[in-house]
Amino acid sequence: MLRLPIFGTKSPTSLEELVAAMAQPGAHLVAGGTDLLPNLKHGLYEPKVLVSIDRVEELQHITWDEDASMLRIGTGVTLSQIAADNEIGARFPSLAKAAGLVASPLIRNMATIGGNINLDTRCRYVNQSEFWRSAIGGCLKSGGDVCHVVPKGRSCVAAMSSDCVPVLTSLGAQLGQVGPNGRRDLAMADYYSSDGIAHTRREAGEITAEVCIPIPTRDTAAQYAKWTVRKSIDFPLVSIAMNFELSGSGHDATIVAATICLGVLAARPKLLRADKLKGLRFSDAETAEVVGELCYAQGKTLDNVPYEAGYRRSMLRVFGKRAVGQLVKSR
Ligand SMILES: Cc1cc2nc3c(=O)[nH]c(=O)nc-3n(C[C@H](O)[C@H](O)[C@H](O)COP(=O)(O)OP(=O)(O)OC[C@H]3O[C@@H](n4cnc5c(N)ncnc54)[C@H](O)[C@@H]3O)c2cc1C
Ligand code: SF4
Repeated sequence: MLRLPIFGTKSPTSLEELVAAMAQPGAHLVAGGTDLLPNLKHGLYEPKVLVSIDRVEELQHITWDEDASMLRIGTGVTLSQIAADNEIGARFPSLAKAAGLVASPLIRNMATIGGNINLDTRCRYVNQSEFWRSAIGGCLKSGGDVCHVVPKGRSCVAAMSSDCVPVLTSLGAQLGQVGPNGRRDLAMADYYSSDGIAHTRREAGEITAEVCIPIPTRDTAAQYAKWTVRKSIDFPLVSIAMNFELSGSGHDATIVAATICLGVLAARPKLLRADKLKGLRFSDAETAEVVGELCYAQGKTLDNVPYEAGYRRSMLRVFGKRAVGQLVKSR
């Protein structure tokens, strides 16, 4: 049986108290605990105290700030709430879909959007028991000095496996980070780094308090595609978020701007260069083909998660193309 290590707990009731509690040495934030607790059982971290966000009201809102043209979601909101919210479903369908595809209903009831944004990277060689890892001598991320995915590599390429991160990035979301020095806002696209050991640019003691999504002013079409082996519980093996700004109506609508973001490659979500989509008619079969090719050409998969990298790369093409076809049909 895998046991939790011994740690203290704190349950502050305001954001100010939360920031103060996070200043203690050895403090680690816990939200739903659905990723953190398995990682603690696997001996990946040893916090002295877990600081819970559960009782902090300031992190529990879903606010449509029409003056600022922004949807603001407190990071304590659960994925079930986001998936079930009718207005989010109508105005940001790719986000509602991604939230509803995470894990299983029980996990989504506990799991928060803040935990999904700050989810640790994953790798088939590290998300294992300590006993399993010791048999291969650990790795750069856990007490060893080699990477088993890129044997001559000097940095960790564990995969960013969150379902919502590619979607939020494709929607141009911003994060409100609150810490000892107050609040700073930054684009999600700038929040992640390529280092699988410390893959966010979160500063010491900082909490992601809010995710803010710009409300589009023109017609958009957004979609999320996820491939997993089982229909439930599984992390994505292929993860594609796309967001198109359109001009014109019906079958004549053309693409003005396209943002496509891939997850589960390495530690950072990848924004594709998608300029060649500009000016294409959205409903043309060629458009779906081009999207599939862009995903394949720029999506360099690695053997960091289950399934052979070459196969996952081919699936990027299939799922990219299919996602556009589904979007066109649904309009
Ligand atoms: C069986 C199983 C299947 C899963 N499948 C999926 C899946 O398909 N897709 C997917 O995306 N995830 C999956 N997960 C992972 C996890 O359930 C989700 O990513 C979830 O959203 C994590 O949220 P949480 O609130 O439980 O985070 P926690 O586990 O509490 O925290 C995760 C990390 O984020 C940090 N954190 C939490 N909140 C904040 C905040 N506000 N500011 C700064 N840091 C913060 C914590 O310190 C911790 O390091 C799965 C987990 C399990 C156990
Ligand atoms: S990518 Fe390499 S260093 Fe990182 S967790 Fe996997 S095996 Fe370890």
